[in-house]
Amino acid sequence: MLFCTAFSLTPREENTLRRSDFESYTGFLMTEAAKQTPMMRQYMRFKAEYPDTVLFFHLGDFYETFFEDAELAARELDIVLTSRNGYPMAGVPVRRGEAYIHQLLKRGHKVAVCQQVEDPKKAKGLVKRDVVRVVTPGTAIEDSVLEEGINNYLCAVDVPEEGARRGIAFLDLSTGEFSTTIAVGEEQLSDELARRAPSEILIADTASAMAGGALDDLLVTRIPGATFVADVFPSAVLGAIEETGLRAAGAILAYVERTQKSVLAHIRPLESYSLSDQMDLDPFTVTSLELVKPLREGQERGTLLHTLDWTGTSMGRRRLRRMILAPLTDRTAIEERLDAVACLVEEARGRQELRERIGAIHDVERLLGKLGAGRMRPIDLLLLLRSLEPVREIGRLIEDLVGDRPAARLAAIAEGLSDPELQSLADAFSGMLVDQPPPEARDGGIIRAGYNEELDGLRRETTSIRGQLATMEQEEREKTGIPSLKIGFNRVFGYYLEVTRTHLDKVPEAYHRRQTLANAERFVTEELKAFEERIANGEERAKALELELFEAALERLREAIPSLQRLADALGELDVLLSLAENAHRSGYVRPTFTETHEIAIREGRHPVVERIEEFVPNDLILDEEKDLVILTGPNMAGKSVYLRQVAAICLMAQIGSFVPASEARLPIVDRVFARVGASDMLSAGISTFMMEMLEVAAILERATTRSLIILDEMGRGTSTFDGVSIAWAVAKELASRIRAKTLFATHYQELTRLVDEIPNAVNLHVAVKEVGRDVVFLHRVEPGTAAGSYGVHVARLAGLPDRVTEVADRILAELLAEAPLSQLGGQTPTAEPLQLFGAEEHPVVVELRKLDPNRITPLEALQILADLRSRLD
Ligand code: ADP
Ligand code: MG
Repeated sequence: MLFCTAFSLTPREENTLRRSDFESYTGFLMTEAAKQTPMMRQYMRFKAEYPDTVLFFHLGDFYETFFEDAELAARELDIVLTSRNGYPMAGVPVRRGEAYIHQLLKRGHKVAVCQQVEDPKKAKGLVKRDVVRVVTPGTAIEDSVLEEGINNYLCAVDVPEEGARRGIAFLDLSTGEFSTTIAVGEEQLSDELARRAPSEILIADTASAMAGGALDDLLVTRIPGATFVADVFPSAVLGAIEETGLRAAGAILAYVERTQKSVLAHIRPLESYSLSDQMDLDPFTVTSLELVKPLREGQERGTLLHTLDWTGTSMGRRRLRRMILAPLTDRTAIEERLDAVACLVEEARGRQELRERIGAIHDVERLLGKLGAGRMRPIDLLLLLRSLEPVREIGRLIEDLVGDRPAARLAAIAEGLSDPELQSLADAFSGMLVDQPPPEARDGGIIRAGYNEELDGLRRETTSIRGQLATMEQEEREKTGIPSLKIGFNRVFGYYLEVTRTHLDKVPEAYHRRQTLANAERFVTEELKAFEERIANGEERAKALELELFEAALERLREAIPSLQRLADALGELDVLLSLAENAHRSGYVRPTFTETHEIAIREGRHPVVERIEEFVPNDLILDEEKDLVILTGPNMAGKSVYLRQVAAICLMAQIGSFVPASEARLPIVDRVFARVGASDMLSAGISTFMMEMLEVAAILERATTRSLIILDEMGRGTSTFDGVSIAWAVAKELASRIRAKTLFATHYQELTRLVDEIPNAVNLHVAVKEVGRDVVFLHRVEPGTAAGSYGVHVARLAGLPDRVTEVADRILAELLAEAPLSQLGGQTPTAEPLQLFGAEEHPVVVELRKLDPNRITPLEALQILADLRSRLD
């Protein structure tokens, strides 16, 4: 439905820049090479047109690369770098070209395929060539390049000269999903880019550089500013979507046309969405909460995505991932999802039946992508057709299951499945393909007997001619008196009569020798040649007919792409809802309810991921309208971080439309969640500087609203105690009194517990531990009030520090406690004294001790440090 005018490429600023890069050596070589042959001049012309790609230049049986491309290809593809007339060259065989192209794509390179477009034998002079497609990471549709559970987005950002509103468009060419939205300001833009993680992003070459690092780490392709135009869309769309969004979408279409050389049939009508309909989640929150990626590599099971994932299809998996990264803020929409999940939770049998059927569905979305891009192979068609078979049954099962319950989503899904078009497609092509078709349709042997009468006729004919061959073999034996004479076939010589050496004297005149073997000779006759021709003819015609039938099926399906895409949507959504229900059932979740007020009541809440791994102690969180800030204290390892994250996870899951791990949950609908984990927890991610932390806090203070949920874990840890405490204090106060966002603050600074004296809407909670002799037992129980001590030395003992070390530590601690004023030691016991933030100078040993993180030193280092401190005390 969408068209755009082709643009002609003008060599851009960057080309010049790029050229100057190799002005010296490579530039000299290129000029020299161009002087040498017309072919190199041709090469240079294409290279100038696609300067930011690796140009695969079709030359005989090879794709050759030259100059810097050759060096890159040799490096990335592990192929030999040679030289031709003194300039670097590296090639790959054409028949293995795809595999090499994919390898380059995965490493973030673009490849322009410059094909011979005429038969070199017939060419007069230089063979005509043309760039037939450009393959880029953002436009990839090949399975081997894509990850099945993750959308592959191409993105374009329109940067208007004025104002903060920026149109962003996303296209997943592998599925056809095409959408646009408006980001206001740098932060919204970078949040949305981070959550979609596009593989390639298009920016106008005329746009000034973007500030704020929104594009860091992303593959940016600069394209002509003139392609950022809205008027390629029909007028109905023009009126409905903001122009800057349309310009971004227009640029995407232009880029697709340029790289794919056509506008593809499966690109969906442009859909516009609003960022305010979804919960704002910035990259730090996504990372901290391990929504889709673990903090530590390799621990994929630790993500929320993995925990919630009981999907049976790739469509479902991709959708679940999208949903987790974009929880809803519209109550009606959330409740609709929950209604559907509730229905599926209750109907255990129906759910199982549906899950079984869904499991047989293939990746319809991406199959349609291949169909639209003209890259459908017989196996793809088979998978698509198979996916149509259970559709009617699934629709019926849903209707039975729903009965007269309120389940708008399930009703909509059933509706999507009941499209008569789908049934007629299924009927038309059922039983068309054999079970294991060969890779290419032109090889034949893909269509099942009984599907097409004409084809069956042709095949019967060939079989009967083969039968006649057997008769002929018999007759020839009798005629010649050679009992071992037989008719055979090979690819080079076709059909032949084989006679063993001992009988060669009996071979008649009419036999013409074709091939001599060790102890036999092979012959042909006029009659045999005639047979051969008839067989070949029959086979050719059958193959041609198979190809025709295959193409006709594709054509018919192509026309039905919109219906099939609605089907894919319905199946994907059903899969996700089933997955959420299955998980709710297995994990004992409850349906959350939402309050219009600002209270939170979670009873027996659990952390969805941690509870899978170990025995879990559930905890409540009750915050009425009057209370906004929780100061959570407790020793190291008590369970503070887990508690904080579980509250965030529960709120987020609820707004995804999932049941939640609790016995009861009454929640507000939050507009955004900020989660920040403390310096030490983030060390693995390489982000630990105090500056970073402060930038983050500044961003939160600027963006949080009364409807936000904020999780601050050990904030201020990255600096000295006094700085840390004072900043944490000030931030907490700002959040609780001015913004009044719901805030949970975990800290090991006891001083902060005194905030409750100053802020009426703050409460203290602590994670309880029990002392047993010299040891500490972690109860993981969250209780009102403040913790009694910090137990750092106990934790050190638990961690396996030798007794002789911890005993010394105990002694020193006792001495220090006796010497120093309480307030300077992080308040081992709560006191009523005013907080002394900037009091007397600390003892140098205390200063040293504060800098220590017992979690991060080895026993040996501890011993060393202790000895050192001890000597300084003396
Ligand atoms: P803190 O942040 O207080 O240092 P964490 O929240 O990181 O402590 O918890 C430390 C460990 O304690 C976790 O890795 C987990 O194994 C365990 N834990 C925490 N909370 C619970 C709980 N509610 N039930 C069971 N185990 C828990
Ligand atoms: Mg912690």
